Amino acid sequence: MSYIFNPSPIPTIAVADSDARIPVRRIFCVGRNYAAHAVEMGKNPDRDPPFFFTKPADAVVGNRETIPYPPETQNFHYEAELVVVIGTAGRNIPEEKSLDHVWGYAVGNDLTRRDLQLEAREKGRPWDWGKAFDHSAVIGPAHAIASVGHPSKGSISLSVNGEVKQDANLKELIWSVPEIISILSRSMHLQPGDLIMTGTPAGVGPLNVGDICTVTIEGLGTLTTEIGPGE
Ligand code: MN
Repeated sequence: MSYIFNPSPIPTIAVADSDARIPVRRIFCVGRNYAAHAVEMGKNPDRDPPFFFTKPADAVVGNRETIPYPPETQNFHYEAELVVVIGTAGRNIPEEKSLDHVWGYAVGNDLTRRDLQLEAREKGRPWDWGKAFDHSAVIGPAHAIASVGHPSKGSISLSVNGEVKQDANLKELIWSVPEIISILSRSMHLQPGDLIMTGTPAGVGPLNVGDICTVTIEGLGTLTTEIGPGE
């Protein structure tokens, strides 16, 4: 068997305290999963069923990489998020079995072209141009559950140039990690290497060229990103 083109490299994320890497299969993202963020986006904070969008696997960017300011936006935003790494395949997973499918957790930053996302939202169009662009999924080293367990509470915070912009607690998630996995697995046959970005708390805002953005989750370390000039 031969390919017409060389296959693209497999996108990967780092693993804490290891040289091994996790191959990324898909990146699922949960919309509006903290009440205060739903309100700041002009939406209902109630426990409506969760909805999902995706990013391409090759949008993944690691810790301490510089990201070029993306094209076609004047309102480029950060979003601090807990990331779940699926390690065991499953479909129609009952909530009480959900955590058996988790390999570990990481710190994430769901980078967003907010102007394009909101324009799409208002017009009833897909979110891809606002959410699924190049370098849009910043994800730090994954921590195995053997070392960090299943974090259901603990601080999640984000700073830009040292100024705190988001400061919340994982226990404020509207939909918990077990619930998200169970619901997602009704629609998708989850596979090892699937990642789930679980939603961002209130306080989203802009990033500009030269900014240093750090996301910290208790027990999972800090994810640092610098914004460079556009390509
Ligand atoms: Mn998000």
